[in-house]
Amino acid sequence: GTQDFPGASSLRTLSASLHGTLVTAADTEYDEARTVWNAMIDRRPLLVIRAADVADVPVALTFARENNLPLAIRGGGHNVAGHGTVDKGLVLDLRALNTVHVDPASRVVRTGPGTLLGELDRATSAHSLAVPVGVVSQTGVAGLCLGGGFGWLTRTHGLTVDNLLAVDLVTAEGEELHADAETNPDLLWGLTGGGGNFGVVTDFTFRAHPMPENLYAGNLIYRAEHWTQALRALRDWSTGLPDQMTVIATVLVPPADWDLGSKSILVVGFLWADPDQAAGAACVEAFTTVAPPDEQDISPVSWPAWQSAMDSLFPKGVRAYWKNTAFDALSDGAIDVLVAHGTQLDWPGTAFDIHVMGGSMGRVPADATAFPDRSSPFWINIYGFWNDATRDNHHVAFIRGFHREMQRFSSGGEYVNFSSGDESLPHGFDALGVYGAEKLARLTALKRRYDPHNRLRLNHNITLPHA
Ligand code: FAD
Repeated sequence: GTQDFPGASSLRTLSASLHGTLVTAADTEYDEARTVWNAMIDRRPLLVIRAADVADVPVALTFARENNLPLAIRGGGHNVAGHGTVDKGLVLDLRALNTVHVDPASRVVRTGPGTLLGELDRATSAHSLAVPVGVVSQTGVAGLCLGGGFGWLTRTHGLTVDNLLAVDLVTAEGEELHADAETNPDLLWGLTGGGGNFGVVTDFTFRAHPMPENLYAGNLIYRAEHWTQALRALRDWSTGLPDQMTVIATVLVPPADWDLGSKSILVVGFLWADPDQAAGAACVEAFTTVAPPDEQDISPVSWPAWQSAMDSLFPKGVRAYWKNTAFDALSDGAIDVLVAHGTQLDWPGTAFDIHVMGGSMGRVPADATAFPDRSSPFWINIYGFWNDATRDNHHVAFIRGFHREMQRFSSGGEYVNFSSGDESLPHGFDALGVYGAEKLARLTALKRRYDPHNRLRLNHNITLPHA
């Protein structure tokens, strides 16, 4: 056959030692197994191992090591840069490892590396608890957490990594480790933003927080002629916003079934994570008095429902390209660039989000986690997704151009999870630019200790200087 390496007999041996399944190009599930959320990433692995349990992890890692195969680790498969699949290598797909265990008394939640946000949200909300994660429920907890984790509880309870208490991990060399505040605390630190560089996480332990059953949350909608006013009002509102309030403002072309026309709209989404709904309403009113919305949709909603409200906008198999940056101020100049680009959005699927940061996330000491930037009050994520491959160049050029213009207002921060990577760089990733010298030195020391041969390189890669 065309693939005589690794040979058929070694594959049979591998298959016999796995509890899960092995998928190769000969199998009908191959196309489904090799692809990730972003259809721009079209790669053909030699093997996909679908782990059935934690015991399959060291088996897969040993096989990759002994056969010197490039290795991709996959949780939810939503990594935008496409790190969840690899040409001519081995994909370790952990999706089936998705049990969630909630201890309501201690508010501690343990979960496997294949869990999706929605699975975690449903399990915790059964106990009126929530772990701060991202905003689309099909995203994987693993990749989201290892990069930071922004979402609707960021201002109230911090990033996902701020709530990471412990992990179990297997290094690419086969070492099995536990890390928490007492045992291997430096390794735990590396996993709070340093990605999949140090090993394969087989278990995450998180702190959860009480969540009201009915949330005060909603969307305030503005037509283009009111964006400048609304964004200036957002700038003022975001100063002194209580921690309970998290705000994400999005400009997008509304899908046809929203019945809001075909011109791009600004949606100021908010979540008030507190049972005192009257206080939440008063907080929102302070904003809407200054910037009355053209339409609004505020109704009581449960945590899992709010968390999956946007799912249909982001189906697997779209073509996607993302760029982001942190910025210090929503200045009039920045607002002008946002408004100009927002009105140029002319196809459904391309959008930008302004995440209002600060609050509890902003008070975490800068060096407490590997996450690079605690001080910027805003991050912008510029993203596009589409189906027609002939439009790739046009959409990618628009997003790059918009991102380049926003660089004037950038405070330097870049969030690895909201990035397609930088094609002009050898590893697609400027580690020094993202982490800064001090954090990069700590991450490099961890890389040297836990993955000295850089077997785990399909990630926001920390490379070792040549000895
Ligand atoms: P995967 O592609 O499965 O994994 C990503 C990478 O993480 C892997 O390549 C590997 O390097 C590493 N990895 C995964 N599992 C392990 C493991 N067990 N051990 C070691 N390394 C591992 N981010 C936010 O912060 N907030 C959001 O609201 C948000 N919304 C999103 C919405 C959509 C539609 C998409 C596509 C992405 C969103 N993201 C968001 C970005 C998201 O955090 C990243 O795409 C993240 O990589 C997804 O994790 P995953 O497990 O699905 O990805």
